[in-house]
Amino acid sequence: MVHSSPTLQHSNTPSPLFSDYHTHPQGHRVQRYSQELLQPWVDQARKIGLRDIAFTDHDRHHAGVDFDEIDQLRERNPDLKIRAGIELDNDPENSAAGRKWIEQHSDKLDFVLGSVHFLQRDDQMFDTVPAGASQFEGRNIDEVYVDYFRRVRNIASTGLVDCLAHLDLIKIHGHRPNAEIEAIADETLDFIRARNLAIELSTAGWRKPVNELYPSDQLIKLAMQKGIPFTTASDAHSHVQLGENFGRLAEKISGFGICEIAIYQDHKRKMRSVL
Ligand SMILES: [Zn+2]
Ligand SMILES: [Zn+2]
Repeated sequence: MVHSSPTLQHSNTPSPLFSDYHTHPQGHRVQRYSQELLQPWVDQARKIGLRDIAFTDHDRHHAGVDFDEIDQLRERNPDLKIRAGIELDNDPENSAAGRKWIEQHSDKLDFVLGSVHFLQRDDQMFDTVPAGASQFEGRNIDEVYVDYFRRVRNIASTGLVDCLAHLDLIKIHGHRPNAEIEAIADETLDFIRARNLAIELSTAGWRKPVNELYPSDQLIKLAMQKGIPFTTASDAHSHVQLGENFGRLAEKISGFGICEIAIYQDHKRKMRSVL
């Protein structure tokens, strides 16, 4: 059992926020969508007070996604908005097939996340904890950051994504650049703004070694200055993680004076008042 800290939110705590736009019903392997697989996510969402959720399984697991099952789930649960989504990453092996699948099913998808999980190694995601930390050993961290954000711009430029996931995932193991993060990420945020994409506020960082929201306060401020919209996200790989630490996230959001959160239907963004 993981040790608890006062900042960890119990999974049954009511959420002051209304949406979670980063969830993995299939977890870490291909599991065909069915009512049995998906209904617990809706039950949990309802229990904690979420009203709008997006399923965003990894594109390498697209074989499990079944849009008819999502439609059935919507019919059975008309009180919730259920969005069909996917998380596209830069997997050297699988992302070409993932891109093709997204192009073929774009009209059925409401929302596509773009992610960078791979650096120079093709066989290991750098965000694997703890093994991925070895990819940083002996490297110039500023260069690693610059390379990472170049890859983020690559994913953003595919024209397939609506929102960037965990924008500063590169900090996951606690490596910090010497240069100011604003200087390193400025071009990428301009790029995201120019393409009219959103970024997510992800509580997943609070359960990782870095123990910090994705993205950092500095990047949230910079994104706000540039007028980039935000989604709210847990990156849940189990339904009990849905809306994890959203109480803490809500405090951040009001502290920053963020008033609206983005939701998506058919890749079209709408802004909704945070409360
Ligand atoms: Zn991810
Ligand atoms: Zn994810």
